[in-house]
Amino acid sequence: MSTVTPVEAEQLNPYKIVQSQLEQAGKRLGVSQDVLNILKKPKRVLYVSFPVKMDDGSIQVFEGYRSQHSDAVGPTKGGIRFHPDVTMDEVKALSMWMSFKCGVVNVPYGGGKGGVVCDPRKYSKGEIQRISRGFMEAIADIVGPEKDIPAPDVYTNSQIMGWMMDTYSRMKGQVSPGVITGKPLSIGGSKGRNEATARGCAFAIEQAMKTLGKPMEGATVAVQGFGNAGRIIAGLLMEQGCKIVAIGDSTGSIYCKEGLNLKQVEQLKDDDSATILDDSNGTPLENPEDLLELDVDILVPAALENVITSQNADRIQANIVAEAANGPTTPKADEILFEKGVLLLPDILANAGGVVVSYFEWVQNLMNYYWSEEEVNKKLREIIVHSYQEVYALADEHQTDLRTAAYMISIQRITEAMEARGWI
Ligand code: NAD
Repeated sequence: MSTVTPVEAEQLNPYKIVQSQLEQAGKRLGVSQDVLNILKKPKRVLYVSFPVKMDDGSIQVFEGYRSQHSDAVGPTKGGIRFHPDVTMDEVKALSMWMSFKCGVVNVPYGGGKGGVVCDPRKYSKGEIQRISRGFMEAIADIVGPEKDIPAPDVYTNSQIMGWMMDTYSRMKGQVSPGVITGKPLSIGGSKGRNEATARGCAFAIEQAMKTLGKPMEGATVAVQGFGNAGRIIAGLLMEQGCKIVAIGDSTGSIYCKEGLNLKQVEQLKDDDSATILDDSNGTPLENPEDLLELDVDILVPAALENVITSQNADRIQANIVAEAANGPTTPKADEILFEKGVLLLPDILANAGGVVVSYFEWVQNLMNYYWSEEEVNKKLREIIVHSYQEVYALADEHQTDLRTAAYMISIQRITEAMEARGWI
């Protein structure tokens, strides 16, 4: 008798998932198996281990990875995450998603991604600074403004990017702001970068609501994840008249049918002695994952991978799922949601605002000429709206889902670059 349960049978390895997404879209596009074979694997993956002196004088050795998927279109680009669950396969997958993300929004990069296996919540500010500097020192040979440009991701932020840029610049003996994006404004960061992922996601949601003929005013929203992406998305959607009825983070989920008081949730999040579950307007959900199944217009997964699977996809009630997180939906869940008629904005489009404004930051660093926030947001809007329309039109033409269409556009662009270089 088989002991394999349905959960075990479902593919949850993000590297295998991105490969199957690539294969499916590539076949529909009609590219050769040679092209798919090249794109199925990252060009380079670096494993590093590095010692860090802790506050108590002990030495701890950390492990990390940097994956560079494809440099056909331009230098590789992508975030660095600090998380205890970082694995080489996860980093490889995330670097591939970055290539396809850059392709959808047509910015001249390939995909990269990095990660350090650690739980930053356990360390002091000084220890995090030394981990950040240690990791940059370990990967410095393969990154650079014309090679590979990191950025923030889960549990990393602009301060960490600042320390990393400083380490790289000292090693090279020259100021190199273009080596990393998402930096503090005082050392070459771009206006609008901190909000860019969320703002891009909000622009995409606005377009999707137009497609469905629904107004933003009064639309109900559930957001899973209350960090850089989720927290700012909640605020931007509320500004547009949406009602944020549920918010979740690593401590649990809170729900209020009439709409949560976002300011209060933000205050609780910033208060180290409280959690968002202390919100007096909302009710904590007994099972935090029930947030995903609420009867809302818009669901925004903005935390981690594989939260919508074949186990819960048929219970998702939202009209729009906007993937602010990378890889929150498995391929099996994708099929179920498509059949149910859910309009799913795939991660490589929905959270591309971050890399678009990272690209703007890099351009400003190379020019040493800085733009206003208005200009950044206007240019971001143009790119996201145009990309949504392109993806939606292709999905409509091929009667397929937006993820497959987004991959098709991207694979086409990367394939043209590989042809132009004479690789294929
Ligand atoms: P973050 O570290 O700022 O926030 C992560 C949030 O997720 C936190 O609120 C945390 O409490 C919450 N969380 C962690 N585990 C959870 C769980 N089990 N259930 C519910 N919530 C949980 O990270 P971020 O930058 O907001 O990134 C979130 C997602 O967005 C990631 O998938 C990341 O790859 C993606 N993303 C981020 C950016 C960016 O510019 N920050 C760009 C593109 C994609």
